[in-house]
Amino acid sequence: MDAQPVVEVCGLAVTHVRLEDERLDPLCAQRRVTARELREIRDAGHFEPDEIGRVVRDALSVCFGEAHGDVGVEAEVVHRGHSTEVGTEVQQLARLIRTGRPCVVLTGAGISTESGVPDFRSPTGIWTQYDPMEYATISAFRRDPVKVWEFYARRFELLSEVEPNEGHRALADLEQRGYVSAVVTQNVDGLHTRAGSQDLIEVHGSIRSASCLACGERVSFADVVAALGDAPAPPCPSCGEIVKPDVVMFGELLPLGAIERAFELAREAGVLLVVGSSLEVHPVAALPEETLAAGGELAIVNRGPTPYDERAAVRVNAAAGQTLSRLLEALT
Ligand SMILES: [Zn+2]
Repeated sequence: MDAQPVVEVCGLAVTHVRLEDERLDPLCAQRRVTARELREIRDAGHFEPDEIGRVVRDALSVCFGEAHGDVGVEAEVVHRGHSTEVGTEVQQLARLIRTGRPCVVLTGAGISTESGVPDFRSPTGIWTQYDPMEYATISAFRRDPVKVWEFYARRFELLSEVEPNEGHRALADLEQRGYVSAVVTQNVDGLHTRAGSQDLIEVHGSIRSASCLACGERVSFADVVAALGDAPAPPCPSCGEIVKPDVVMFGELLPLGAIERAFELAREAGVLLVVGSSLEVHPVAALPEETLAAGGELAIVNRGPTPYDERAAVRVNAAAGQTLSRLLEALT
């Protein structure tokens, strides 16, 4: 027989006990439950409907909490679960947006992956399948537009099938209710427009149209998709040259008007809410710096770290769609 301490899961020494063949398991649940509370729970049928919620909540709080009588305090412990942490952060975000208008939103690929749009840079992203130097540079397009359209035809086909998700819709709704003044996006998928966003700055262009580099003719997304049914690359209806999607390719300048407006909005923002961007692609990644330098606050909703996490007033590491719909609920 050895005398040895038994330490329970939460790290507290229970006692010094003497063990033979038997094992002493510290019964945390027992230790945490006050009998007085348990005796009150007999059968749910004994309670009025409005009492059941209280009993279930109190029982849960007793199980998760310490064994003192203050159920109110124990209920706080229960609410420290993961989803409630996000809930608390969403409440903080709602407060920030209520008091810090105007709120400007900056979105990246993370908001559209929930619609099924693949992102570019993740381990399963588009650039792991396609070398951007061969398919996404302006010089590649000038050299071999048909080859570049092999890549874009697949993207156009995919993007013609996806729908805006609850995150896109929540942002459009927040704009309509006056909580969001504008959305700056790195995405070219056109989902913000389809969800109803009005003041939208697409700093990397959009697939909603394509233009002829020779004569300037512009072709709509629907016409491009129709043309791709007959040919590997869509020709210009005026001159027959192959049109280029109106997305910014590597080696092209960002649309000057759009990027200037984005910087202006970032400086004027009471809150810059970043959604689904790891803030790695410049110059958009410099927008939070503009907001912070001008005295605005920063909020980040993104799965995974960003270089600005330490400086954000609110940081939510969760899915964009669910977080934004909860934000909408909290604000309305
Ligand atoms: Zn043309």
